[in-house]
Amino acid sequence: MIDALMKYHAMKCGHVFSLAALAVGLCIFTSTVFAAEVNVYSYRKPKLIDPMFAVFTQKTGIKVNSVYAKKGMLERLKQEGSNSPADLVFTVDIGRLTDIQNAGLTQAVQSDELERDIPAQFREPNGHWFGLTSRARIIVTSVDRVGADDLKTYEDLTDARWKGRICTRSGKHPYMVALTASMIAHYGTEKAKDWLTGLKANLARKPQGNDRAQVKAIKEGVCDVAVINHYYMAKMLKDPKQVPWAKAVRVMFPNQKDFRLLHRQGTHMNISGVSLTKHAPNRDAAIALMEFLASAKGQRMYAQKNGEYPVTPGAEWNDLQKSWGPFKQDELALADIAKNRAAAIRMADEVGYNQ
Ligand code: FE
Repeated sequence: MIDALMKYHAMKCGHVFSLAALAVGLCIFTSTVFAAEVNVYSYRKPKLIDPMFAVFTQKTGIKVNSVYAKKGMLERLKQEGSNSPADLVFTVDIGRLTDIQNAGLTQAVQSDELERDIPAQFREPNGHWFGLTSRARIIVTSVDRVGADDLKTYEDLTDARWKGRICTRSGKHPYMVALTASMIAHYGTEKAKDWLTGLKANLARKPQGNDRAQVKAIKEGVCDVAVINHYYMAKMLKDPKQVPWAKAVRVMFPNQKDFRLLHRQGTHMNISGVSLTKHAPNRDAAIALMEFLASAKGQRMYAQKNGEYPVTPGAEWNDLQKSWGPFKQDELALADIAKNRAAAIRMADEVGYNQ
């Protein structure tokens, strides 16, 4: 890659050189900067991504400068406009990725490697964003109070037997919004609304807290069933205080069997991903970093760090994931699910989900 970048710049510099001798100095300067750096704006914590960047730098000589922010990245990119130093934006959730794209802050990337390594449902059709890790929205149930086969699908959550027994976080949190949006994508607005109404009717309490708080509530007997992202199981098992919460539940990957077209197929997945910014000053080096993160080595490191799933088929899983075994994932394109996000947020209001 470095060779390719150097060749690319030798071409460009040859041209500049013929224009003015003064430009030679500038050319050397820009070519060094071009080949040597990638600037990253990240919503992902440094401890998750910095170790991978270090390996990338070691491999290619390209330095990665990352800026971490909890929020405000979109506004910052907008303000900086074409002067932005950012090449790549790393973020979590299909909602945030599409927000950045819809604000016109990204550019399309065509890369055979990215298309080979990342399944189509996890990338924007024109290459405006790419999923790099994935997370399953699973159902967890009380080991003591729910049988292993009592609940098999997202649709089952509306069954009257679960009345007053389910806990979830806010219906307007991006994780719940994406799940509702996926129900709309599969079934249309009307049926999806019936589903959300049915789920709401079975809640044990007003939606509150994060995903882990729902598992805690099962441990405390507040509810028997919850919907969470899978990696929180790994996180709880690493925290002595939370181990008892994790041990109180059984993990279930919804919608695994062929329900003869009665139900959607496969567990709902969301992603963390990356976009190339519209004005990326170090475009080629940035694409090289994207390709590295989608490669077998990048995937192994990235997914393991946060207990997420790699997006690349065949990339190695961690021991906890292996213990849960393989499962069927929803194959509907996240780009299509994302189109229903606004409707899903409205729907949460309409059914009074958070009331
Ligand atoms: Fe999370």
